[in-house]
Amino acid sequence: MKTVKHFLLALGLGMGLCGASAFADVAPAPAPEGNDGKVEKITASRAEVLMVLDKSGSMYDMTNDTIGGFNSMIQKYRDMKLPVRVTTVLFNDKSKVLHDRQDINTVRELTGDDYTASGTTALLDALGQSITRLSEVPDVKEGKDTQVVVVIITDGQENSSKEYKKSTVKNIIEDMQKKGWKFMFLGANIDAVSEAGSLGIDTNNAVKYRNTGSAVRSNYDAVVNFTVEAMEAPASGSMKGSWKDSVEKDDTPESTAPESAPKTGAPEKSLRGVK
Ligand SMILES: [Mg+2]
Repeated sequence: MKTVKHFLLALGLGMGLCGASAFADVAPAPAPEGNDGKVEKITASRAEVLMVLDKSGSMYDMTNDTIGGFNSMIQKYRDMKLPVRVTTVLFNDKSKVLHDRQDINTVRELTGDDYTASGTTALLDALGQSITRLSEVPDVKEGKDTQVVVVIITDGQENSSKEYKKSTVKNIIEDMQKKGWKFMFLGANIDAVSEAGSLGIDTNNAVKYRNTGSAVRSNYDAVVNFTVEAMEAPASGSMKGSWKDSVEKDDTPESTAPESAPKTGAPEKSLRGVK
């Protein structure tokens, strides 16, 4: 049964690749050693994708690109016929579950009513709550053929969590990574690699992106490519990392200026009437 599922998935993926030149460079994963030369392209039959998406006030200028990028990501998963369930958590000082383990084909598009950037950044609470919640779902816990992918997109550092400490979130993330979960950290205006490392995330899976419209949209292409790579990777092995090619990176050195005060978001007044 597993083999049949893999075949169907590989077939679906192949068909998707034919129709999506953007993913033509997604090469099959190398055959894991010791499998008698049999190439196993996909080691997970389906993916469970948890999007933890910052909508604090500092993301305000990127609103339209975030919405557009997110919706194009959903369409790309569909075009590639990837069997994905999506959970979307939007957070500022509070978290909101927008999609709850929804089949990719029924996920409602993100709109300006869902994504209105304002408020402060409670990243730790959003991560602690959403990861714990997903990890307790029996279907996810026991889903041996399921690759869990957690995607964190944020442009600024934590400044308002009340429930979770960084050390607790780090422990949770490290435990989940040991179970095979893959975490992807995309950060703007921060040293994403160092920030991801401090959260226990494999720093190979962290990239600092440019805070521009095209870069924000590119992030969502990278999410799809990351998911494919995670599904291809041998259970215990590491990923190739070519998904990073789809992120528009900022290679300018980190500023040596003293860190500015935490962002508290765009003024409430300027957000009125924004859809
Ligand atoms: Mg912020």
